[in-house]
Amino acid sequence: MNIDSIQNGVVIDHITAGLGMRLYELLGLASLDVSIALIKNVGSKKMGKKDIIKIDADIELDLDVIGFVDPDATVNIIKDGVLVEKRSIDMPETLTNVIKCKNPRCITTCEQELDHIFKLTDKEDKVYRCIYCETKA
Ligand code: ZN
Repeated sequence: MNIDSIQNGVVIDHITAGLGMRLYELLGLASLDVSIALIKNVGSKKMGKKDIIKIDADIELDLDVIGFVDPDATVNIIKDGVLVEKRSIDMPETLTNVIKCKNPRCITTCEQELDHIFKLTDKEDKVYRCIYCETKA
């Protein structure tokens, strides 16, 4: 695909350099059967360097995941080659089944059917804790 001219799709812009890959993984983009470009270390006047993800398909993304990985990112919706919408991203208060608790003694490790839920406990420092054992994400 021509990465500069998406006709219908989503562009995640202003991703902090280095976070593009993590976002790609957590959004589950690898399993989608659509054209996706992950562009790393793009020069940016405002940020020095940034990552960009371009998805050449009209799909719904989990904005909570984006807000968790990088609340400074912007999401642009492109329709018929025109930018029709800019979505603002915010840190989600809770994250459900996005990341897993790393504490081997956490109840989520033995109770497989439990949802993995994390709560934002410190917005300043971007700290998420497991709601069951309070381990930091
Ligand atoms: Zn836990």
